[in-house]
Amino acid sequence: MSVSYRNGLRAALLYLLLSLIWLQLSGYLSSSFFDNFADQARWQRISGYAWALFSAVLIFFARARLLRVMGADRWLRHQHKDRERLRQAAAVFDCTREGVLVSDTQGQIVHVNRAFIEITGYQREEVLGHQPSMFKSGHHSADFYKAMFDALQQCGEWSGEIWNRRKSGEIYPQWQTIRAIHDDQGELTHYVAVFSDISAIKDSEHELAHLAHHDPLTDLPNRLLFTDRAEQALASAQIHKRGCALLMIDLDHFKMINDSLGHNLGDQLLKAVAERLGGMFGPGITLARLGGDEFAVLAESCPQLVQAAALAQRIIDGLKEPFELGEQRLLINASIGISLFPSDALSASQLLRNADAALFKAKSAGRNGYALYTEELTAHAQRRVEIAFELRRALEQQELRVYYQPVHDLQSSRLIGVEALVRWQHPQRGLVSPAEFIPIAERTGMIAEIDAWVMQQACRQMCQWQADGVELSFVAVNVSTRLFARSELYQQVAQVLHDTGLDPAYLELEVTESAVMDDPEVALEQMHRLRELGIRLAIDDFGTGYSSLLRLKRLPVQKLKIDQGFVAGLPGDEDDAAISRVIIALAQSMGMQVHAEGIEQAEQARFLLDHGCDLGQGYWFGRPMPAEQLVWGNAPAITKTPEDCC
Ligand code: C2E
Ligand code: MG
Ligand code: MG
Repeated sequence: MSVSYRNGLRAALLYLLLSLIWLQLSGYLSSSFFDNFADQARWQRISGYAWALFSAVLIFFARARLLRVMGADRWLRHQHKDRERLRQAAAVFDCTREGVLVSDTQGQIVHVNRAFIEITGYQREEVLGHQPSMFKSGHHSADFYKAMFDALQQCGEWSGEIWNRRKSGEIYPQWQTIRAIHDDQGELTHYVAVFSDISAIKDSEHELAHLAHHDPLTDLPNRLLFTDRAEQALASAQIHKRGCALLMIDLDHFKMINDSLGHNLGDQLLKAVAERLGGMFGPGITLARLGGDEFAVLAESCPQLVQAAALAQRIIDGLKEPFELGEQRLLINASIGISLFPSDALSASQLLRNADAALFKAKSAGRNGYALYTEELTAHAQRRVEIAFELRRALEQQELRVYYQPVHDLQSSRLIGVEALVRWQHPQRGLVSPAEFIPIAERTGMIAEIDAWVMQQACRQMCQWQADGVELSFVAVNVSTRLFARSELYQQVAQVLHDTGLDPAYLELEVTESAVMDDPEVALEQMHRLRELGIRLAIDDFGTGYSSLLRLKRLPVQKLKIDQGFVAGLPGDEDDAAISRVIIALAQSMGMQVHAEGIEQAEQARFLLDHGCDLGQGYWFGRPMPAEQLVWGNAPAITKTPEDCC
């Protein structure tokens, strides 16, 4: 029944009730006080009832009709529905688990719900009248907010992920929907933002991603993540023209531990191995567990195979220390397969396959060792790593020797100086050339120690010769490129001079041209400082680098040594002859001495003398030899070529 009818019925019934009461009362009065009128009164009462009933029906229809005509029925119905809706909305607003924030057109917050308070930690009165910007986390750029407002203006709605700040200061992710609210005239009145806290979802997403990419036992990256990182590293290495190395490590006889001591202890050992391996590497090296007892290492910057081999050796040595697991003390060895980028493979999957093949080789070769994918390289790398290892022992066991090679004045043939050259008296291999071990010593950092030792020996020997009455103008000592770049060189030279008491004027330091030109500004500063000590400076192997003449002029250098590569072709090779002539002329023009090395024949010495070279050194004068074997005296006289032959 419609509201208008319900209201009409209510009014008609009320009228009827009142009429009946009235009729009842009037009947009672008339029957008790006016008996002679009783019949008339009864008749009147009956007609009164009929009238009242008729009027009530009229009232019912009239009122219902009237309300319908006036539209009040709809209005009342709407009002009723609105009230219902409001009641429902209020319940939703308050009970929903999503935070709700209503702001007016000025952006001031006018309503928040209970969930808002729970999520943000703010009380209602702390936020009402404020701008929602008070929750900003600083996580998003201005462009992000601009895009949000643009979407609100254009579509009246925006939804997306946004990071806000709770009252506690914690930043958390929300999934938020903002809607613009307009009135009946289309005027913007409010904005309503509904959001949910999705930090729990994010956390579990993270957890899932972590689980998908990590090994649950050791928490190391698994094969999936490792391959992914390897692909990225290779892409970057390709751009920067860097070499990478992939090492696959397999524990030797791990199955025996599992079978004999149980899987529990096996797992503990794997965890301990992972921890120890993790402690060995710094940034730029990724360690992963590929499965079982198989680990992988990716070295993102590994320019030389010897470095990869050294890394493998370091891993093998590092695992040698026993593992203490509760009461148990376990020893485990590892075999390693190495594959190099770009020489062995260009993709991560291929590198992994090659490293696996190399690992198989290492296992077949007796385990507890490493193998490179390319066999020849394995032998080469192993030798170099061995040398590095043995060199350390050589220093401690004093297996190094200093040999001296005479330097003669070409004009007078007089022996005027010596160059100190290091040798390694290897217990099994005999005398080892510096060309074999100096580059390794440079890479391992041992060169500083070696050079300091040679310098010390040479200065001490020079003092001895002087004491014996041998007249020499200088003893030349080679300084490695690595050491030359370091600031402690000055300190080191000063210390040696102080310890040995040699007059600095008798000490000559030879620095290669490339060492000087690598970083000319640093070299210039270093040379000036060294000159302050009173020593002499020579540029070794001149002609092999890319000297800038302007820079060369500024260097406080007393001597240029023509590289033996140019001397070898003299006098026949026209290019060598031309270069030698140019170097001599250049040195003379800059007031430097010229010294040619590698003179093996009289004609070479003659050519150099003819063109004004000052000093000569080479097998023709004498080979490098121990101090006590040096022969003091003049070399055979070099006769100048007659003028007309030149
Ligand atoms: P370098 O300083 O240019 O030394 C000259 C090299 O030429 C020496 O080789 C010497 O034995 C060799 N040589 C001399 N005369 C002749 C010749 O007539 N024919 C030929 N074919 N070779 C000749 P060595 O002693 O093998 O040294 C090689 C390089 O090792 C040296 O070249 C030097 O750069 C480096 N070196 C040697 N001793 C030391 C040292 O104590 N410290 C450092 N940092 N480097 C050293
Ligand atoms: Mg030299
Ligand atoms: Mg040289």
